Amino acid sequence: MEIIPVNPRGFCKGVFKAIRLAKRAAKDNPGTQITILGQIVHNRFVVEALNQAGIKTLDEPKASRLELLNKISDGIVIFTAHGVSNAVRQEAIRRNLTVMDATCEDVLSTQQLVESASLANQTIFYIGKSQHPEANAITESYPHVFLIEKIQDIPQISADSDIFVTNQTTMSKNDIEHIIDAIIKQYPHATIAREICAATRLRQEAVEKIKDADAMIVVGDPTSNNTRMLEKIAIEHGLKHVYRIESVEQLDTSFLNRDIRIAVTAGASTPQKLTQQVIDYLRSYDFDHPADLPKVNIATLLDE
Ligand code: SF4
Repeated sequence: MEIIPVNPRGFCKGVFKAIRLAKRAAKDNPGTQITILGQIVHNRFVVEALNQAGIKTLDEPKASRLELLNKISDGIVIFTAHGVSNAVRQEAIRRNLTVMDATCEDVLSTQQLVESASLANQTIFYIGKSQHPEANAITESYPHVFLIEKIQDIPQISADSDIFVTNQTTMSKNDIEHIIDAIIKQYPHATIAREICAATRLRQEAVEKIKDADAMIVVGDPTSNNTRMLEKIAIEHGLKHVYRIESVEQLDTSFLNRDIRIAVTAGASTPQKLTQQVIDYLRSYDFDHPADLPKVNIATLLDE
């Protein structure tokens, strides 16, 4: 059995920064309630590890960041790498909350592009996922933005409209190109700003470059958009067997055999230790006497 770790994989710079900021906030402010507005990254192990370190995550299905913010009365509030809407920023200032902002610079850059297009009275098409916090921050700040998840969502407006097109940073680059092609066909004069971040693009390209693997394991949370995009790209790339698992605890060993070549990658929200545990287990797999699947050690998961 051959194991092929895909590079790059795992945490991106924006996630590193957000987690480091949260840990430093806890260290520098003992006794102060620290609350992350929404999941810092879409990974339940990371949320649990921060919780064990005394850093609370406030998240409820379908609740907006503004609704969540209204439940916080004191302490330090951390904005996640996905960014927040203008209304959330203004409300935090109005209520004198102490804010630490971990919005990723790549997300901020897209927000600034949308702001400029809005000030220029352009019609804005934003390709993204409904209910994803990064997309929500845009649509809540600019309610006139058209959110496009699929080609069928492209609005039918006047052909000579001044259209600006951009996208959520963690989309599949292939999906984005299909949608952009369809937009250009309909609105040839649209201005396009492709905003898939380098971390997302490089991880997707690395999966596409894998040759001769029989299977791919994608380590990541089912709620992580960039993880699901890696899984989708691996399937589109023609890999016969693609398995997404949250950790080594979910590894199904029934497909292993002595001749198989398995590539292993991970979403940008997956801690390196989770992925390494999968790689280490597979590399030391003994077909005659397979060891039990190990457990994840949450307490040390975010140690650097
Ligand atoms: S996936 Fe990209 S945009 Fe999102 S936090 Fe990471 S680097 Fe930033």
